Amino acid sequence: MYNIAAVSFGELFLKGKNRGSFEQKLIEKIKYALKDYKHVSIYKDSGKVYVETQNEEDMDQILEKVRKIFGISNISPSIKTSKDVDIIIDKTIELFRYLLKKKDIKTFKIRTKRTDKNFPIKSMDFSALVGGKILEKISSVKVDVHAPDVEIFIDIKRSCYISSEKIKSLGGLPIGSNGRALLLLSGGIDSPVAGYMIAKRGVEINALYFHTYPFTSERANEKVMKLKEKLEEYCGKIKLYSINMLEIHKAIREFCREEETTILARRFMMRIAEKIASENKMDMLITGESLGQVASQTMKSMAVIENAIDMPILKPLVGLDKSEIIEIARQIGTYETSILPYDDCCSVFAPTHPLINPKLENIKRSESNLNVQELIEKVCSTIEIM
Ligand code: ATP
Ligand code: MG
Repeated sequence: MYNIAAVSFGELFLKGKNRGSFEQKLIEKIKYALKDYKHVSIYKDSGKVYVETQNEEDMDQILEKVRKIFGISNISPSIKTSKDVDIIIDKTIELFRYLLKKKDIKTFKIRTKRTDKNFPIKSMDFSALVGGKILEKISSVKVDVHAPDVEIFIDIKRSCYISSEKIKSLGGLPIGSNGRALLLLSGGIDSPVAGYMIAKRGVEINALYFHTYPFTSERANEKVMKLKEKLEEYCGKIKLYSINMLEIHKAIREFCREEETTILARRFMMRIAEKIASENKMDMLITGESLGQVASQTMKSMAVIENAIDMPILKPLVGLDKSEIIEIARQIGTYETSILPYDDCCSVFAPTHPLINPKLENIKRSESNLNVQELIEKVCSTIEIM
């Protein structure tokens, strides 16, 4: 039925002068998402972006892909026609019959918007004209302008677009319109959600994953790869770095107190992440921390961990409960992968009684037993791009 999708932007309206470049980014993202579809063209027509296809059968898949692009508030599957009055009427009736097959419609309303003032009939008059024709052809329905079962929207611009529904999309801002950040991506539930939430605000994301091979398995790597691919449906291409932390864990075990292990390891992770981010032109880090969720996420623990670096850390889940995070993970499709049993960090090095109230001076004293810079250089030499 539909040969075109009308795409409305979200907050782009708020951005005044930047609007042009944001629109351009959005068009690029749509092109990338639809790169495998032939016979698709993308263009602007007064305030909206249109995705036109010569293969109507592709429309459902196109809508599904475009729906996942940040910066779009809603999408309307539409029929594009010429601005010939009779053709518009015929196509509107055709659409109406199609809708009648799908759902029970007793009442309707026609709404016309005439951006092209050369079109010979005024909006209100045209709505009345088309409405009258529908009443003539389809005797089972009535007009209700206040609470109709269906509203058909006729948008007259460079071409004419007829639609009846708006599919709510994700909102946010187009990726790349708001800088770059490095996501600390584990195989857990939280970090993919954190990446999603920051990407939604227009941030281009790359990811860093720490493993302790051979104490963690190949399967754990594959799981993180899979999570990255899931995120890419929303975020576009993500570069995933991996680093083997084994030497650091060994050194901590040898020279520091067991209960400090997690805090010390996290401080190393942050330093390494900061290094990789700044070497690759990224301005902030992202983690999936949520206040109070585990020992390393108490106020005190987070403060001591953050103290290791200067770069800001975004923690979009900080105020969410686990159940709320899980809900988002399910919606975005990462949950099923996240709960696979292969662990990213190895239990061999996990303390039985981790500190929940670490003191910075003590942690710093323990670190003075280690050659921090040398260890960082050493593990950074294991870097791979997955
Ligand atoms: P997640 O579900 O994201 O793994 P979590 O509840 O298991 O989080 P932690 O294991 O304490 O919490 O990790 C807190 C955050 O630190 C994670 O959300 C992630 O951003 C980062 N992180 C933890 N482990 C790793 C890892 N192996 N590689 C990269 N980042 C990690
Ligand atoms: Mg984890």
